[in-house]
Amino acid sequence: MADYKAPLRDMRFVLNEVFDVASLWAQLPALAETVDAETVEAILEEAGKVTSQRIAPLNRGADEEGCHWKDTVVTTPAGFPQAYQTYAEGGWVGVGGDPTYGGMGMPKVVSAQVEEMINSASLAFGLYPMLTAGACLSINAHASDELKQTYLPNMYAGVWAGSMCLTEAHAGTDLGIIRTKAEPQADGSYTISGTKIFITGGEHDLTENIIHLVLAKLPDAPAGPKGISLFLVPKFMVNADGSLGARNTLSCGSIEHKMGIQASATCVMNFDGAVGYIVGEPNKGLAAMFTMMNYERLGVGIQGLASAERSYQNAIEYARDRLQSRSPTGPKAKDKVADPIIVHPDVRRMLLTMKAFNEGGRAFSTYVAMQLDTAKFSEDAVTRKRAEDLVALLTPVAKAFLTDLGLETTVHGQQVFGGHGFIREWGQEQLVRDVRITQIYEGTNGIQALDLVGRKVIGSGGAFYQLFADEVRHFISTAAPELAEFTKPLAAAVDNLDKLTAWLLDRVKNDPNEIGAASVEYLHVFGYTAYAYMWALMARAALGKQGQEDFYASKLGTARFYFARLLPRIHSLTASVKAGSESLFLLDAEQF
Ligand SMILES: Cc1cc2nc3c(=O)[nH]c(=O)nc-3n(C[C@H](O)[C@H](O)[C@H](O)COP(=O)(O)OP(=O)(O)OC[C@H]3O[C@@H](n4cnc5c(N)ncnc54)[C@H](O)[C@@H]3O)c2cc1C
Repeated sequence: MADYKAPLRDMRFVLNEVFDVASLWAQLPALAETVDAETVEAILEEAGKVTSQRIAPLNRGADEEGCHWKDTVVTTPAGFPQAYQTYAEGGWVGVGGDPTYGGMGMPKVVSAQVEEMINSASLAFGLYPMLTAGACLSINAHASDELKQTYLPNMYAGVWAGSMCLTEAHAGTDLGIIRTKAEPQADGSYTISGTKIFITGGEHDLTENIIHLVLAKLPDAPAGPKGISLFLVPKFMVNADGSLGARNTLSCGSIEHKMGIQASATCVMNFDGAVGYIVGEPNKGLAAMFTMMNYERLGVGIQGLASAERSYQNAIEYARDRLQSRSPTGPKAKDKVADPIIVHPDVRRMLLTMKAFNEGGRAFSTYVAMQLDTAKFSEDAVTRKRAEDLVALLTPVAKAFLTDLGLETTVHGQQVFGGHGFIREWGQEQLVRDVRITQIYEGTNGIQALDLVGRKVIGSGGAFYQLFADEVRHFISTAAPELAEFTKPLAAAVDNLDKLTAWLLDRVKNDPNEIGAASVEYLHVFGYTAYAYMWALMARAALGKQGQEDFYASKLGTARFYFARLLPRIHSLTASVKAGSESLFLLDAEQF
């Protein structure tokens, strides 16, 4: 496998030249105080080093070894505890954390780049700090000051880790039917009893304590999602002076044997009257958990991108070296027995598809991160509301589209290697296995698509969609004439999405199955159109600079490829949506 190289040049291009994030920060006083271009540059450089030098080299061995479980104790693969300590000591777990409690206070546009690097280095490793950062977000937004002061500093410092305990054997998508119970105690605490499954980092040897956020039901809770509360349940109790006390009554019953992310411990967690503390209001646990959902879902989308980037880096190196057959237009490497496979049109198709999806995905995830930062830090209510609505609309697209393309891209990367992509040595098959989970956890991609169409597009009567379409149209109408080769097909794609959205808004009035029948393909039409906007923005930033650096010529060439070869996929997807729900219900359940 090629060494991982953090794509810092492209990250700088997206942050500085495409989106000019410094001027966004200047408008957000809370960020203007904590963030400046020099600090961000140093952060990106350092993150590039720690992820490529310290973590990426562990990825393959950790996959071979996996995690170990014995008598409730989980051990991570060789090298993980030491690497985690290095990562934590660098402050990386708290990179986006609240400075009041020791976090670095970086905006999401910056922590998003760090997330990409850590997940490219090792998706299984990256999950441990990611779950901790997610738990911190919920605690910071909803827990009492006392809980925040007791837990956040050690979690941001990476001394303690976090986990999110939602899923039960009979309740995954439908959390309204969970059975875990919470009994109130005289001292204001609760006892938590029940079994959670599939808990990432539920138990491990990386940190001295693990802070579980657990969804459970109070005795008098109403049925369904409105009867769920959120509790903080530490593995070890914390004494008044901050030292660790007795072991809480919870344990890891086993770990799963699974397709990928072998080095991430996926745990069955048993809570046997464990002491917990409520986070937020009784029966408002799902809302408290959803505070971090937009951040986490974008983070999972970035995991898809990260795996795809690693696969691309390997594939491009291999395609330049591997000699097979001659170019259709005559020999290119005349001194060699055959040409490198990068001369073949089909290999170029795969490599360019990978490059176009990855760079488009990096721009899109950064764009969504900018909306998250604006929604969190803007002091202007109108600006904040617009950003919140865009976050609501775009988060399911980011989660599902980036991870669906993550799988497609890693499969292309495997295919470039031919048979060598199927065997372990080169690492390409691991990336395919690892990235697959990103389409499933944190709400399956099918559920993301339902969220986009049902709650966000139809639920807002098309208003959230209109915000996005208006922004793209404004860009098109103010773009320089030299950009017409990009803005014309972009305008056609937005027209197509407008019509499809209007068609859907109309169709769902008469057929309740229409949302679910249309949702996945609609999300993909949306995703390709959003990437077209990103590619037009990138083309604008690169145009005229081709002579300065190969980077810009490569950017423009990739933009042309995206518009010529990938954007047209919207036409077949649109036709599928418009075929409606009818053909999905021609068979009875027994006729399958
Ligand atoms: C490796 C791994 C790590 C995980 N980490 C965590 C973790 O840290 N914490 C945690 O709490 N959970 C975790 N999970 C659980 C994960 O989030 C769930 O598996 C996921 O949400 C799906 O739930 P389920 O498996 O019960 O599938 P189900 O909910 O049973 O869904 C089965 C299928 O039905 C579809 N479906 C369900 N309902 C609908 C509907 N209304 N409309 C249309 N389609 C529907 C789904 O999209 C899916 O295709 C993890 C899972 C794995 C495998």
